[in-house]
Amino acid sequence: MVRAAVLPAVGSPLEITDIDLPEPGPGQVRVRLAAAGVCHSDLSLTDGTMRVPVPAVLGHEGAGTVVSVGEGVTHVAPGDGVVLNWAPSCGRCHACSLGEVWLCADALTGAGDVYATRSSDGSDLHPGLNVAAFAEETVVAARCVLPVPDGVPLIDAALLGCAVLTGYGAVHHAARVREGETVAVFGVGGVGLATLQAARIAGAPTIVAVDVSPEKEELARRAGATHYVVASENTAREIRALTGRQGVDVAVECVGRAVTIRTAWESTRRGGRTTVVGIGGKDQQVTFNALELFHWGRTLSGCVYGNADPAVDLPVLAGHVRAGRLDLGALVTDRITLDGIPAAFETMKAGKGGRALVVF
Ligand SMILES: [Zn+2]
Ligand SMILES: [Zn+2]
Repeated sequence: MVRAAVLPAVGSPLEITDIDLPEPGPGQVRVRLAAAGVCHSDLSLTDGTMRVPVPAVLGHEGAGTVVSVGEGVTHVAPGDGVVLNWAPSCGRCHACSLGEVWLCADALTGAGDVYATRSSDGSDLHPGLNVAAFAEETVVAARCVLPVPDGVPLIDAALLGCAVLTGYGAVHHAARVREGETVAVFGVGGVGLATLQAARIAGAPTIVAVDVSPEKEELARRAGATHYVVASENTAREIRALTGRQGVDVAVECVGRAVTIRTAWESTRRGGRTTVVGIGGKDQQVTFNALELFHWGRTLSGCVYGNADPAVDLPVLAGHVRAGRLDLGALVTDRITLDGIPAAFETMKAGKGGRALVVF
C-alpha cells in the first residue's frame, strides 16, 4: 500500500489516498519516487483540457529508485536511480523510424490500462500519462524508465523528465537557436524557466522573458533573462524596441493561449521562428491574414516534449548540469508533499511561482 494523488473524475478535486500496486509483470519496473514535479499538464488533465481515462493517478515528471523489475528487464536493476519518461517511444512506427520519437504513434499505449487499485474499495486506477508519478511508488513499462545520468542528484533529476527536456528541446531541437540569435520566452513557469536557461546555453545575447506577473522578474533573470517584460497589449512593440526595432529571431510560447501565440509571432523579426510549447484548448483560435504571412516570412511550429529523444538528451543535459550551465534547483520555487499538490494547482492557476516539486 502506498500513498498517491488520485483524480477521481474530470473537474473533481484530487484525493490523496492509499493505493495497492501489483508486483511488476514481464517488461515492467517498480519505482520508489524520490521527487515529482507539478506540471501544467497535470492541471490540464484535471480540468479536461487534456484527457486520460479516470480515475487516474496523475504526475508525469519524476525520478526515483528501482525497487524491483519484472521478467526480461535488463537495462535497469533494483537500486538504480531512474528518470521517468512519460512518452516512451516504440521504435517501430513511422515516426520512430524517422527518428521523431516524440511523435511516436504508440507512445501512449498503456494509458488505458488499469495499473493499480484503490485500497479502500479495490476499484481500478489508470496511470495518468503512463507513469503515475504522484505516488510514493509506481509500476511502469520498462521503456518508461531511463537511468539517471551521473552527476545529477536524484531529486533534481525529476525535472529532467518533463520541464527541462521540453524547454531545452524547444530551444535546441524545435527552434534550433544558433549562437548570437535573440530569444523571447513567453510564460515564466517551470518550462519557461528551463527555456530561458536553454537559451542562455545556446549563447543568445538577448533573452527577453515575458509574463503577466511582475513578481517573476528575479526568477527569470536568474534563469538567464537579460530583459523582463510584463505582458500587455504593447508586448510585441516593447520586444521590437529591445532588438533594434527588428524583433527577436526566436520566440518560444510556453502558455498555450491564442493571444500569447499571436503576440509571440508578432515579436519575431521578418523570417523569425515561433515555437509553441504551451498546450491550449480547442477554443484558442489563432488567426493570421494571408498578406502578413507572405510579408513577414515567419515560421510557426508546434513542439511535443521538446522534440527530444530522452535517451539521447538526458546525458547531454547532465553534462550541462555538471558544467554548471544548467541549474535545476533554480526552477523549483516550492518543495511540497503529496498533500500540497491541490494548493500547487491553485498557485499555478493564479500564474504564480516556478516549479512545485513533491519531495517524497
Ligand atoms: Zn509536463
Ligand atoms: Zn513509435
